Amino acid sequence: MGHEEVLGVLHEPRREPESHHEPETHNEPRYASVMVDIAVDRVNRPFHYAIPDRLAGRIDIGTRVIAPFGNRTVYGYVIDLVEEPFSGDVKELIDIADDLCFLDRRMLDLARWMQDYYLCHVVEALRCMLPGGVRTHRVRPKFQQMVELAPALASASQAEVAASLESLGKTAPSQARVLKLLLAEKRAGGTMGSGVPKAELLRRGASAASIKALERKGLVIVGNVEIRRAPMDGRESGIGTSGTSRSFKLTREQASAVQIILDQFSALRGSGRRDREPRPVLLHGVTGSGKTEVYLQAIAHARELGRSAIVLVPEISLTPQMVERFCSRFGDDVAVLHSRLSMGERFDEWRRIRRGEAGIVIGARSAIFAPARDLGLIIIDEEHEASYKQDEAPRYDAREVARVRAKVEPAVLVLGSATPSIEAYHRAMTGEYTYARLPDRVSGRPLPAVHVIDLREELKAGNRTIFSRRLREAIADRLTRREQIILFLNRRGHSTFVLCRECGHVLRCPHCDVSLTYHAEDARMLCHYCDWEERVPEVCPRCGSIYIKYFGIGTERVEREVKSSFPGARVLRMDVDTTRRKGSHRRMLDGFRKGEYDILVGTQMIAKGLDFPGVTLVGVVTADTSLNLPDFRSGERTFQLLEQVAGRAGRGASPGEVIIQTYSPDHYSIRFAASHDYEGFYREEIKTREELVYPPFAHIIAMIVSSSDVSVAAGVAQELASALRARLKAGESSGRVFDVLGPAPCPLARIGGSYRWQVALKCPDALAANPIVRDAVSSVMKAKVPAPGRAGSGGGSGVSPGASFAVSINVDPASML
Ligand code: ADP
Ligand code: ZN
Ligand code: ZN
Repeated sequence: MGHEEVLGVLHEPRREPESHHEPETHNEPRYASVMVDIAVDRVNRPFHYAIPDRLAGRIDIGTRVIAPFGNRTVYGYVIDLVEEPFSGDVKELIDIADDLCFLDRRMLDLARWMQDYYLCHVVEALRCMLPGGVRTHRVRPKFQQMVELAPALASASQAEVAASLESLGKTAPSQARVLKLLLAEKRAGGTMGSGVPKAELLRRGASAASIKALERKGLVIVGNVEIRRAPMDGRESGIGTSGTSRSFKLTREQASAVQIILDQFSALRGSGRRDREPRPVLLHGVTGSGKTEVYLQAIAHARELGRSAIVLVPEISLTPQMVERFCSRFGDDVAVLHSRLSMGERFDEWRRIRRGEAGIVIGARSAIFAPARDLGLIIIDEEHEASYKQDEAPRYDAREVARVRAKVEPAVLVLGSATPSIEAYHRAMTGEYTYARLPDRVSGRPLPAVHVIDLREELKAGNRTIFSRRLREAIADRLTRREQIILFLNRRGHSTFVLCRECGHVLRCPHCDVSLTYHAEDARMLCHYCDWEERVPEVCPRCGSIYIKYFGIGTERVEREVKSSFPGARVLRMDVDTTRRKGSHRRMLDGFRKGEYDILVGTQMIAKGLDFPGVTLVGVVTADTSLNLPDFRSGERTFQLLEQVAGRAGRGASPGEVIIQTYSPDHYSIRFAASHDYEGFYREEIKTREELVYPPFAHIIAMIVSSSDVSVAAGVAQELASALRARLKAGESSGRVFDVLGPAPCPLARIGGSYRWQVALKCPDALAANPIVRDAVSSVMKAKVPAPGRAGSGGGSGVSPGASFAVSINVDPASML
């Protein structure tokens, strides 16, 4: 399967689903309308099945079932229950797939919206809503056999028990021993609930035969109890620390932010009423302004109302402090969906959530689909992060899914950030979102002073090292004062390109359109896109010269320079290369916080949500890395990153200082980051967006055609652009503003051996435009695409030799690279 996502339409494309509150009752329906779990266009419609008597009353909307399909047996999702089938000739359902139903009517509505908005198959959306491994039944609930005293024995008096023990002891001493163990455990107020795991009894010397004999005599009961695979080590989970952290007395600003959120709750209460929909809240607060405390207290209120909450964080393994705060406030009521959970652990957490045993879900992007019961609150922390957008199909944006989920539940949505995305801030300014501001740090400490260093001036002054004179002095100063330093650079490796000084040849990945990064530690060159690696050649592969030079700075190089310039300093480097091992990330952060290191060198991995009171200096080695990307969001990304990094300084008692080195000191992203002026930045950025009609003034639907044959990629992209333009001709009469961009090679024109061409559609409304895109893409997929010299090849899944291609559709892409 090379291509994706051209769909027969299941439902007419619709607007965002309305929230609804109809009770889910049915009169003994005898047929189920089922979407089979096969993501191909042909079967992207409901099929009807009869419900056999043995399954009667156990099937509801959202139940996953096992059904015959052609000559196969497949999974399917019940999307409706009906009295009469389409036709008289229907097959019977075989069975129910899961003992617990993870989906309901609201989630089905959400899946349909995803289908219409992101142009995916509805089953692809539904798959997002089941925990990994459940869908394929690779994991099941884990049961443990428990042995407990029969009720008669358990309630008998000491004397009676002693008597029966003694008589039993004569004939069957090993059985008596088992009973004694159980009695002792019960008296000790056993931590195991009612009974002792059978495995535990066996370990303590009981035999399976004696347990069986006791069971036959009716003295003990052996039963299966579902157990939870503990998702984290105790420290991280906060298990046993439940409720130990108390809430703070809120500052005036925090209290008013909490109140703004609670005001939205009142739109939920008495959910029979529909007079008002809750409006999303944008919580805009500088780093350290107490946003997390606002979340915690809003959640506490939601729980008091019997509502559950979902909290999304950009990447949970990067925010251990946040998880700890939640666990220590709410204990076992928190379910954590960790990216490194085993499938079994994830499965068990989902079940706890579904059953209402955990009312607070904290997790990354996909946790937006968690089956929380009576959901009342969704919080998205660091709302501006690009990681909320999924890179592969279905290419959903968790922020938008959250908005729609908040509507169908209904629930209150809170988006928090120190540097809101332009889209979110724009919505707040136009009144679509409610706006809450936390302008100051709780501590009352000012944001750190920022100095911008013009690297061109350094060069002129003869400084050819990677540190400006000012940064070098500042580092030396902090080292003597025993204060901590963070050096930030958003590129890993040693040098970002390798070049021949004689002929200018740059060593490139043979499969991608990018230069190779030099990693000095193992003297290799790596492609950061496809992981291709090779050794550095002795001589230039083009001209044979031996003058091979390394250019561009990566974190590895910064680490080396620091070590050689400041020999006494204890340096820690954190990037993808040093944190591969499980748990290493956490250990390193702990070590740095404890003061085991003086200097932390790292990529954006260290920019997020971390609180290091000992840090008084943050150096940005070059701010230009993200600035010069050919993408309409590069200014926004640069501003956000600088602001986030700057927020790491001066969180403790000593004031902080930030030094930003750059070749573009006059760029507005850098100027406004230096003065911590979000509003100023926004005013500048929004002007450009409006002039060029970029988001939030338009939606972008990007279509990427990829093929191993460059002329096929280009040819199909050309066809696609024409197909779109032809279809839009008709649309223009309705007064809509559309614009087709391209075809053009993507800025990253080749990745992993595949050429990439792009066509993009700008439109005022993605839902309205999607049918046109769907239609244009499917016409291209069907067409025979004549590749030069190879007439009639290409097409669809690309069975023809040599010239297959794929088209992927990305609605509201995070970047245009
Ligand atoms: P943010 O999430 O905006 O970065 P935090 O919620 O982490 O801010 O708060 C920053 C620091 O201030 C934390 O150490 C937190 O414990 C503390 N804090 C938050 N609210 C209060 C308060 N009302 N009173 C005292 N300390 C607070
Ligand atoms: Zn050369
Ligand atoms: Zn590559």
